[in-house]
Amino acid sequence: MSLSQEIKDFLQEEALTRFLSYVKVHTTSDESQAGVKTPSSDNQFDLQRILEKELQELGLQDVELDNHCYLYGTLPASPGAGNAVIGLVAHVDTSSAVPGDNVKPRIIENYQGGPIGDFPEDPNLQITYNDSPELKKFIGDDIITASGRTLLSADDKAGIAEIMAALAAFQKYPELKHPEVRVIFTPDEEIGMGTAKINESKLPKFNYTLDGGEPGELEAECFDAWGAEIKFQGISVHPGFAKNKMINAATTAARFLAAMPDFETPEHTELREGFFHVTSIAGSEESALIKMIIRDFEVPQNEKRMEYLGKLAEYFEARYQGLKIDIEFKHQYQNMWVVMEQYPESIELAHKAIEMAGVEVDQKAIRGGTDGSKLSLMGYPTPNLFAGGVLFHSRKEWIAKSALLKAAETAVHLCALWAEK
Ligand SMILES: [Zn+2]
Repeated sequence: MSLSQEIKDFLQEEALTRFLSYVKVHTTSDESQAGVKTPSSDNQFDLQRILEKELQELGLQDVELDNHCYLYGTLPASPGAGNAVIGLVAHVDTSSAVPGDNVKPRIIENYQGGPIGDFPEDPNLQITYNDSPELKKFIGDDIITASGRTLLSADDKAGIAEIMAALAAFQKYPELKHPEVRVIFTPDEEIGMGTAKINESKLPKFNYTLDGGEPGELEAECFDAWGAEIKFQGISVHPGFAKNKMINAATTAARFLAAMPDFETPEHTELREGFFHVTSIAGSEESALIKMIIRDFEVPQNEKRMEYLGKLAEYFEARYQGLKIDIEFKHQYQNMWVVMEQYPESIELAHKAIEMAGVEVDQKAIRGGTDGSKLSLMGYPTPNLFAGGVLFHSRKEWIAKSALLKAAETAVHLCALWAEK
């Protein structure tokens, strides 16, 4: 079933208007409050209160904004739909990497290709094909950017606007079938705390986050993630009398790092390649500490990396008699695929819905973790669908107008498919 032009026009208008209004609300989350309080910044409530009212206007039931800034609502199934229930999830906060206050979206109509410049608040800023080869696919489209001083916050206000547009279409066009839909808007995704205070009793078994990039993206896999702390215990002796006695922990730690694989680092890897990534090093003659993260999609690959570090430590202890190296590994999160692979239908329906919206599916593995991966590992399979934005967390962030429509269409089709179950 393809949607009528009237419904598409409606979805486009709803998604665009709502998006342009949501981006103006300042919702930057606060990294320094991660694990201290939820929400990490009170301004996230400002958008949630607006959305709370809008969900009520759209006929959702049990709309609830709780003390931790999670917003829930339920759209009852349309007549004749089956018993399936799905959750549509998006986050209200934005990254603190770039200012997110006073966002002034601007629309470049009928984009003709080439670099995008003339940012009103930073004339030197340019988005080029180098930054964003995706631009070439949107010639003739309308492109939305911020003003040069802030991010745009398509991550993830595009996701929110697209979900709201789908809900608005369900209200206006009763012929669009949908199952019971739970809407879940979360705070603090950008600081890794988006599911910290989520109310599991509000979650259906199957959910989708709308938090991915360009049209077609579908993600059901994320990294298998480990942290490692490598402690070097040296022997400190007065440097004037240190011959054959001192073992300098700081310099041995530096040599240890120099013996790591040169190209297994974030700056030399992409797609399904894993890496070691040193996040900090500190030390003196007496002791030194290297912190790193280890990432891969395949568990055995990470096991090999950990084994490598263990062997390297043994070698260093043999090479520098008296040096002690202790390594502590901590599993940070699992690849969500271990859960997703048990529910292939949830991914198949997403595939179908994207194709029904006339977009080619680009199934990818997420080089990081998302709220969807956390929810999946909590037992709620949650693939991530595209929301349409590009160059997240930067002043160059942009989204094409048609991407808003395609994601909203995908949400409508996805609901129709689940209603048939
Ligand atoms: Zn996001």
